[in-house]
Amino acid sequence: MPSYFITGAGRGLGLAFTKELLQDPKNHVIASARNPSGSKGLQELITKYPKNQLSLVQLDVTDEKSIANAVKETEELAPNGIDNFISNAGIASDELIPFSDVDLKTFGEDLNFQLVATISLFRAFLPLIKKSEQKKVLVLTSVLGSIELGIGMPGLANTYSIMKAGLNMLWRKWAAELKGDKVTVVLIHPGWVGETDMGGTIGPYMEKYAPDVLNVPEVESATGCMKVLKEATFEQTGSFFVYDGSSLPW
Ligand code: NDP
Repeated sequence: MPSYFITGAGRGLGLAFTKELLQDPKNHVIASARNPSGSKGLQELITKYPKNQLSLVQLDVTDEKSIANAVKETEELAPNGIDNFISNAGIASDELIPFSDVDLKTFGEDLNFQLVATISLFRAFLPLIKKSEQKKVLVLTSVLGSIELGIGMPGLANTYSIMKAGLNMLWRKWAAELKGDKVTVVLIHPGWVGETDMGGTIGPYMEKYAPDVLNVPEVESATGCMKVLKEATFEQTGSFFVYDGSSLPW
C-alpha cells in the first residue's frame, strides 16, 4: 500500500491531490494541513474513507514544534515510511509590486517560508522518506521560478518568482545529494490554476498581461501532477516538469 504525505492539503491543489489519490483504494493518503478540522474539504473526505486510506495530520510547515509532532504521528501512521512526499503548501504575497515598492519584511518572511522552512521540514521528514520503498518527492514550484522563462510582465509576482527560483535551485542541488540514498525528487509547475485561492488572486493580471496562458481546471492539473509523480523514475531525479508531463527549462 503506497503512502502519500501532502502538505497544505486543506484546500486548493493539496485537497485536489488528496481527492485524486483516494480514487485508488490501494493508496494511503496522509493529508496534512495547518488546521485539518477547519478544512471543509478534508472533513467531508474523512467521513467517507477508512483510516487505512486517509489520515489527517496537523502541520504548519514554518513551525518546528508542529513539524516534530507531525513526524512522530506519521511514523505511527506509516511504519514503512513515506513513499511519496508532496511538498505543496505555498504562499504568494505579491501580484504586481515593482522592486521599488517591495516590502522588505514581507520579502524576508516569504523567503523564510519557501527556503528556510523547506530545509527544516525536509531534514525532519527525510528519514521517513528514505526508509520507504518508493522514496519519491514532488515539489510544487512555478514557471515563474524559471530564470529562462519566468520573465513576463515587469513587476508581476517579483517576490514569488524569486522564492520559486530559489526553491528550484535548492532542490536541484539537494536532489543531487540524495542520489546516494536513491531518493527521486521532481519539481512540477501545475499550470495556472485559476480555481484555487492563489491562482484566482493572480487571475485579473493573467488575463491582462498573459492572455495566451491557459487557465487549467484544478482536476486536470491534479490528475496530471499525480501522473507525473507516479511515472517519475530515479533517472529523472532533479527534473522540472509541467503537469502535462512536458519539461521546463530552469
Ligand atoms: P492556495 O493558496 O489555494 O493554497 C495554499 C495551501 O498552502 C493552503 O492549503 C494553505 O493552508 C497552505 N499553507 C500556507 N501556509 C502554510 C503553512 N505555513 N503551513 C502549512 N500549510 C500552509 O494555493 P494553490 O493550491 O493554488 O497552490 C499550491 C502550490 O502550487 C503552491 O506551492 C503554489 O505556489 C503552486 N502553484 C500554484 C499555481 C496556481 O495557479 N494555482 C501556479 C503555479 C504554482 P491554509 O488553508 O492553512 O492557509
